[in-house]
Amino acid sequence: MSILKVARMGHPVLRQKCQVINPLTIKGSEIQRLIRDMFETMAEYSGVGLAAPQVHKPVRLVIAGGDADEEGQPTYRVLINPEITVLNDEDRLGMYEGCLSVPGLRGWVERPAHIKVKAYNEKAQLQEFELEGFPAIVMQHECDHLDGVLYVDRIEDTTRFAFEDEADRYLDLTGEELEDEGTDDD
Ligand code: ZN
Repeated sequence: MSILKVARMGHPVLRQKCQVINPLTIKGSEIQRLIRDMFETMAEYSGVGLAAPQVHKPVRLVIAGGDADEEGQPTYRVLINPEITVLNDEDRLGMYEGCLSVPGLRGWVERPAHIKVKAYNEKAQLQEFELEGFPAIVMQHECDHLDGVLYVDRIEDTTRFAFEDEADRYLDLTGEELEDEGTDDD
């Protein structure tokens, strides 16, 4: 296994539309090694997800976390050729996102909170499932990478784009406004 070099914003590999993977090659050594190396790379940099183009491989493969099992241990899904369907565009969730390819920064992004995902897993099984909340946000962030989109493209209010340490000091990362904007009884 190897820890792979992570591409940073500005590298063209992050801005291209990634290639579809032939499902018949998923169980082959090349894709299996890429998956193992991506897991090792993600753990090394404490990521909650990682997309193949972030390690200079422009193919449609991501690892996405944000969920936990019954014992509270983080769980991750491998998704190949993922397709996302938004189930309710009105129901949106905002948070300060970060990205291993945009180190040291955080930005406020709002995305649909409830999605359906269809993808192959690492065993070449086609799966379909729904996600809500944080895991749905992580999934959309990672799948955006496959189309050359970074979270910074989705920031609407650039006053909510900040260096991580300043964000920790001055912004409420849970998403609540720091200023008291009156009563919050309703
Ligand atoms: Zn990212």
